[in-house]
Formats: sequence, C-alpha cells, structure tokens
Amino acid sequence: MKRSRFLLNTLKETPKEAVVASHILLARAGMIKQVASGIYTYMPLATRVLHKIETIIREELDAAGCQELLMPVVQPAELWVESGRWQEYGKELLRLKDRKDNDYCLGPTHEEIITDVVRREVRSYKDLPLNLYQIQTKFRDEIRPRFGLMRGREFLMKDAYSFDVDTEAATASYWDMHRAYSRIFSRCKLEFRPVEADSGAIGGDYNHEFQVLARSGEDLVLSCGNCDYAANAERCEIKEAPAYEPAGAVADPRVVDTPGKKTIEEVAGFLGVAPEACVKTLLYQADGRLIAAMIPGHRELNEVALKRAAGAVSLEIAVDPALFANRGLHPGFLGPIDFPEDIPLYVDAAVMAAPETVAGANQPEKHLVGVVPAAHVKPTATATLRQAVEGDGCPRCGKGRFKAFRGIEVGHIFRLGTKYSESMNAVYLDQNGKERPIVMGCYGIGVGRTMAAAIEQNHDEDGIIWPVSIAPFHVMLLNLDVKDEQVLGAVDGLYAGLRAKGVETLVDDTPQRPGFKFKDADLIGLPVQATVGARSLKNGVVEIKIRRSGEKRAVPLGAAVDEIVAELQKLGWGSPLE
Ligand code: ATP
Ligand code: MG
Repeated sequence: MKRSRFLLNTLKETPKEAVVASHILLARAGMIKQVASGIYTYMPLATRVLHKIETIIREELDAAGCQELLMPVVQPAELWVESGRWQEYGKELLRLKDRKDNDYCLGPTHEEIITDVVRREVRSYKDLPLNLYQIQTKFRDEIRPRFGLMRGREFLMKDAYSFDVDTEAATASYWDMHRAYSRIFSRCKLEFRPVEADSGAIGGDYNHEFQVLARSGEDLVLSCGNCDYAANAERCEIKEAPAYEPAGAVADPRVVDTPGKKTIEEVAGFLGVAPEACVKTLLYQADGRLIAAMIPGHRELNEVALKRAAGAVSLEIAVDPALFANRGLHPGFLGPIDFPEDIPLYVDAAVMAAPETVAGANQPEKHLVGVVPAAHVKPTATATLRQAVEGDGCPRCGKGRFKAFRGIEVGHIFRLGTKYSESMNAVYLDQNGKERPIVMGCYGIGVGRTMAAAIEQNHDEDGIIWPVSIAPFHVMLLNLDVKDEQVLGAVDGLYAGLRAKGVETLVDDTPQRPGFKFKDADLIGLPVQATVGARSLKNGVVEIKIRRSGEKRAVPLGAAVDEIVAELQKLGWGSPLE
C-alpha cells in the first residue's frame, strides 16, 4: 500500500483532552477521529489493527468450539422487561422509541437477545453445550467517557455466551474460555493477569477480569506475593484476624471534647493517638434507605463490599445535611454507641479485631475513647469492608502479602448460572424428559480497549511500537527520493519481494522531507522500517531499523527481503503461541 493513496494524516499537536498515551498516540497517528463525546471513527490504520485483533479472537474461539453469529444492535424493550433489566440498568442504557412509539434500547450487552435465540432453538440436552459469540458495536451511555477508546460510549466488543446442562458442564466451559482468553491476550503480546472481580449488573456468582498491567489503568489490582490469588480491589478479600475477646469486664468508653476536630487526622492528632487507633463511621443511602459502615480510621471503604453486605443495588454516600439533621446525627462525630437502632450498622472485621479504639460520640464536638468494639458495638453484620491495599495479608494461602498494581480490564468472563434462563424461561429437556433451566456463562473482550491497552504497554516518547501480531502493517518502507527512477525501481522490487512472502508493507512515497518521514515512521510504529535513498543505493544498500530496539543496520539490496523477514520472525511473526 502506498502512503500517497492511503488515508493517513498524522498530527503534530496532541488534542487537549488526551491525557493517556494510547489516546494521545491514536490521535496523533491519525488512527481515530472523535465524532462526539465517547464516539469515534476508526480510520483505515486503526481498522487494520482491529481486524488483526478480531482475527486472533476468531481463531482462538473457533478452536475452542465457539460459533460466530451476529445479533441486532437495536433491541426491543420487552426482552429487557422479561429479564428485569429494563428497570435495573439505569442511565447507561440508551433507550429510544420507534415511529409506533415502541420502546427499544441500543445493546450495551446481549444476554437478553441470545437467551431469546437459544430458548427458541434448544429443545433437549442433545442440543447442548453451545457457545455463541459475535464481534459487534455496543453502546453504553457512560457517565464519564474518557481516555479515548479506553472508555467510549460506542465501542467494539466481542461477546460470547455459553449454554450447558448443569453447573459442572458450565464450569468446564468457563475454564475453556479462561484458557482461550489467555491465548488471545498472549498472542496480542500483552502482559496481563486474570483476576477475581465483582460481577456488577450482569449478575452471576463467579468471574475473572483480564487485566493488562499499565500505570494509566483505571483499576487497582492486588496480587498475592506467595500464591496465585489476584483480585480487583473492589472484590479483594483480606486475611482477617479473629475478633478480639476481652478477658474480663470492660469499662465504659469515656466522652472527650474534640472541638472542631472532624477528620480522622484531626482527631488522632488532637488526642495524640495514631489514625489506626481510630474508627470512622460513614453514612450511606442504600437503595434509598440509610445505612452506616464502620471501618478503621486510616482505611478507605470498599463500596462494592458494602453494597454486597447490605444486599443493595445502588449505594451513595449521604452528603445532604438534612439526612443527618432529621435523625439527630452529627457528621464528623458519628459513632457506634447510641446510634439509631433502625439504621443498619455494617462493621469491618478489622474493627471487631481491635482491642480498643476511638470513635465519634454521636454528640456534637465529642468523641469516645476506650471503645472496645467486641464489647460495645452491636453490628448488623461484620464483613471485610475496607479496600485492600499493598501489604495486606492474602486470605487464600494465609501466608503471602499483597502487591498492588494498576490495570486495564480488557476482558471479563462470568458464570451466570440460571439468572437469565430462569427469568426468560430458557429450558431444555433432560434425559428423563424433565424440563431444566439452561446454565449460562458470558464472556466479553473490548476490542478497541485491547488496541489501546497494547499501545499503553508498547510505546516510547517517539510513538507507538506495535507488536507484530497486531501491527497495522509489518514494514514501513521509506522512499527518500521519490523522483529518482532507480530508487523507485528498488522500492518497487522490495515491495513485491516482501508481498510475495506475505509481509504487509506501507510505502512512504510522499514528497516529504526525510526528517519528517522518519518521525512519522516512529510515531506510526510499524515493527520494521526499511529506507531506500539515492545515496544508500549508490552503495547498494538499504537501511533497516527495528522500531522496538532502535537498532539500525545497512544490508545489501539483494538480501533486504530475507533480512526483513528474519527480523520480523525474531519479533514473533508467524510463530505459533508456545
Ligand atoms: P468497566 O468496569 O471498565 O466499565 P465493565 O465491567 O462494564 O467494564 P463488561 O460489561 O464486562 O465491562 O464488558 C466487557 C468488556 O468490554 C470489558 O472487559 C472491556 O474490555 C470492554 N468495555 C466495557 N466498557 C467499555 C467502554 N465504555 N469502552 C470500551 N470498552 C469497554
Ligand atoms: Mg462498565
């Protein structure tokens, strides 16, 4: 492909809204054009990368026995009412009406449609297992679209759904997909980890996210230094010490004046104790009713854990002063004693393990010292409510400590159980002719997000460094003297030789200055660059540069095709995985 005929305009300037490397570089390399907030056109260069990723996905899923289909983007409300998600999903679901005033939505995910397909096609256990997937545009009206393709509103997703006769078979399907995902992301040359995660609105009891390690990642992931437990912070369990058991009688807590001292730091400083020796009580609205959570003073609350403990769908911190005033509560001085009994109080396990703490007194400008949680606090329930941090103990092996890293979630796999098959009546007849619900799993990969994550992991200050497996082309062939017939002949010869070997080449045949072409070649980041100019040709050589290492060398024109192919192979081209 000749660059002069290829729609590709690089930018010198970084768009001001772009803050992460992948967004900056996708924009500067002319690969994406923003149409509206979180909505992009993928230009030809980006489309080639997306197709490469899609090919890897198709090859691995087909090898795992999955079948591709294509479902509609526009989905009728009735199916969503059946599953219960028309009410549940909230504002990410873009709802619309047709000319007859019927309700529809743009698919953010396809459990409803696929369950409807399968309940109409599957009759007996002989029709199972099934694993069906599609690669398609999704729409989610994200509250904060950002980071370019990382969090768009319209984006490309591969979504797959498995259907099995029972939990055991569904679990086997789940682990098949786990393996297929590992192969897909390995082939995309990503450094990633599968981690345990929260299942959010999709439901189900058990799931893994595939997290690509990157400083710019939106997710915090903890991984044990001793065993293979790794989890998203929102789902991470922590090894808990047993609840403290006082040896004898426990004295009542004492009230102390703490005028104007509301934050943990202020209270701890004022009383001359460590923040760890204090607890904080936080007021939340869970599905509209008030609840409270108590955690150690120096820790953050894990809202997902609180939601789970309270069995709530929505959770918001209570900030409206009226909520406190109506109940005679004093923000900054909340505590577990003399707390309204009708407000459920969820207490972190570490609080119950502490022998003695400082807490708010539920009186203005006062705290309590000498609070022994095991004796003085009556929790509605105890759970791990604080967010895990680096150094916390691993609950699985009981020995290791957590390391923390940031990650980009590129894939997510869920065991759904019978959530959708029961609400939507997707059943099969078992060997005894008895009707049973189909057991489901669902599996997503963000195709555009995978491309962006690959850039986050593979770039330098000059631009992108594409892994060969997903590079839009393999080679950038730079013609430095486009008017020189001899150079033109050499470039054409090289192009044809590379093409014959299956190498995809973009020829920079534009009349730009060499310096400009070199800069652009680095920015676009094809794995190998080959440069031909009148001067090098006089010596019978072509200059080859490896984008990743920066290594350059001159090779004889006649050997250039083989040398380039050898370099691409060294970079992993054409090599099967493991
Ligand atoms: P997140 O927590 O990042 O919002 P999610 O849990 O909502 O993700 P899933 O419903 O599991 O995501 O979707 C499957 C995959 O689709 C994700 O792993 C991710 O790669 C991709 N994805 C989800 N939301 C977006 C988005 N707004 N933009 C781009 N890709 C997305
Ligand atoms: Mg989401």
